[in-house]
Amino acid sequence: MIDFMDMFPNEETCLEYLSMVRWPEGYACLRCSSTRHWKKARGLYSCQDCGYEASVIVGTIFQDTHKPLRLWFQAIWYVVNQKNGVSALGLQKALGLGSYHTAWAWLHKLRRAMVRPGRDRLTGLIQMDETFVGGKRSGKRGRGAEGKALVLIAAEEVPEGIGRIRLAQISDASSDALTQATLQMVEPGSVICTDGWESYNSLVTHGYIHRPCSHKNASSGDATPLTHQIASLFKRWWLGTHQGAVSQEHLQYYLDEFTFRFNRRTSKSRGKLFYRLIEQALSVNPIQSKFLSTT
Ligand SMILES: [Zn+2]
Repeated sequence: MIDFMDMFPNEETCLEYLSMVRWPEGYACLRCSSTRHWKKARGLYSCQDCGYEASVIVGTIFQDTHKPLRLWFQAIWYVVNQKNGVSALGLQKALGLGSYHTAWAWLHKLRRAMVRPGRDRLTGLIQMDETFVGGKRSGKRGRGAEGKALVLIAAEEVPEGIGRIRLAQISDASSDALTQATLQMVEPGSVICTDGWESYNSLVTHGYIHRPCSHKNASSGDATPLTHQIASLFKRWWLGTHQGAVSQEHLQYYLDEFTFRFNRRTSKSRGKLFYRLIEQALSVNPIQSKFLSTT
């Protein structure tokens, strides 16, 4: 927190930081590309050639915020510095926010920013499997179960163990649903190992090399052990930090937060995570949903 206070003593320093991250080469008019401009208050840039005015927060998740940017920065700082993340109640207390709803909505906006638009897909050797999340009864494969969500897990297998991961909520374990999710998560040409579930067989028609391995024949009895490690880590995190109290409607955002944290688990520098999250927050469009629009 002392680092934070030193770096961001006021609104101006926060706006400066946003400008630096958003326009590392300096501001160029969003309409005519001219670099001649006047800087005005509240991060506003005015073009000297065409007169167009743009704010550094327009078109980002900070657009339309009624709260100081510095409070946002504090929230982001807090989120990246908590190893296991933070619940809305935890954030509300840490920042002294009057409203639980604000804390909740901010965390959702930040989770949206944890997925880099157009991010890279996984490559190389990939293990893949589905898992059920939530609900009390156990689910039946391919059909789903009441109160449960189905999540597809993809994990890169590297010499040290697990490389990067991707998690996606899917409607069912049909060939169509698995293929659509795989195309989002894994680069064609990659080798995908799964168990013997038949719906994975159509992956080969989309340019993947598929190595089905039936449970019976796998020497360890487990065709995709890395995905099962991820599944149990995710469930522990989800129950621990968020008490598992997540509706299916919002599950994907939690999957994204877990992925963001997991894929950067070895990063030593929290400052770098802070920079990365701010950078991504600037490239994510403002959220249109009614329940998120007024905070
Ligand atoms: Zn201009």
